[in-house]
Amino acid sequence: MTPLSREIATIIRETGPIGVDRYMALCLSHPVHGYYVTRDPLGARGDFTTAPEISQMFGELIGAWAAWVHRAMGAPDPLLLIELGPGRGTLMADALRALRAAAPGTTVGPHLVETSPILRGVQERVLAGTGATWHTSVGTLPGGPAILLANEFLDCLPVRQFVRRPGGWHERLVGQGPDGAFAFGLAPEATRGMTTEAPDGAVVSVPGPALDLARELARRVRAVGGVCLLIDYGYVRPGFGDTLQALSGHAFADPLAAPGEADLTCHVDFAALALAARETGAAVHGPVDQGDFLTALGLHERAARLRQKADAAQTGAIEAAMARLTDPGPGGMGHLFKVIAIADPALGPLPGLPPG
Ligand code: SAH
Repeated sequence: MTPLSREIATIIRETGPIGVDRYMALCLSHPVHGYYVTRDPLGARGDFTTAPEISQMFGELIGAWAAWVHRAMGAPDPLLLIELGPGRGTLMADALRALRAAAPGTTVGPHLVETSPILRGVQERVLAGTGATWHTSVGTLPGGPAILLANEFLDCLPVRQFVRRPGGWHERLVGQGPDGAFAFGLAPEATRGMTTEAPDGAVVSVPGPALDLARELARRVRAVGGVCLLIDYGYVRPGFGDTLQALSGHAFADPLAAPGEADLTCHVDFAALALAARETGAAVHGPVDQGDFLTALGLHERAARLRQKADAAQTGAIEAAMARLTDPGPGGMGHLFKVIAIADPALGPLPGLPPG
């Protein structure tokens, strides 16, 4: 039993089984026992490794991309560079370095949206001297045209799940079995208004907060200009399948076994995200596979430049990082991860991203 298990058990006893969205929110963001509130989960000794932690090339290419976009935006000075869920601050640090080299003379104001006090502490050290400002939600970000980045952020926003049964779609709930262990169950009544046909047992995830965010970002770029670059693992065609997953020590775990102790995520529905942004009046570029995006941005050329000054061990590490970031195999980062941009329609084509 984790401390959070006891609290969730009390909630279920008092109010009945809870939605997957509430369960995810408690596990990840509970103010005392939440996964992100209590630890730095990244890296070899943590639970998962993200692209910026694999190689500096990832953030540098995104910084060069941002410099190109900045010019296309008419080179606003200062430039607002926003990141949602910045982890250890590695992507921002690498991107800032490349952006400042490509756009010398431009003042860049980094703004970071982070709820984890522990990760914010790491970011403050890594980004010391950059003039960065921190926020706990997008609500307090300054207005004006911005370039916004988010890598592996959308996957940790809560989703509701529904399961198709003969009479309709029933919400998937977390309750307790006879032995007291948490168990998935279904709401007894079908959800009104959900009519999509699907095979019995099909599961659909509805990412309410991610869609709300996509609409908010779309409204923002539509009103004041700018671009939001979102990178995450997910799928590009609407699908029926349960992608709720827990990761602990770099291995998949039971999402219900240790609330607050394992990372809990859901694959991102890029089709739904694109639709929400487009319906709000923004242009959508992509989604495109991460491997294709990085290759188009010059990953191989960047690696070749780094190799010129590298010893044998460093050369091996550069090669391995490049292969991992672009791995096109099933489950490989190059294919599983997608890149999408929500942009001001006035901007036109963006590097590495075909129009959606
Ligand atoms: N982008 C980083 C880290 C990804 S992990 C990287 O690529 O390495 C997810 C990040 O989102 C963490 O920094 C976590 O603390 C943050 N986070 C999770 N939920 C959040 C929320 N609701 N609001 C802001 N940040 C959140």
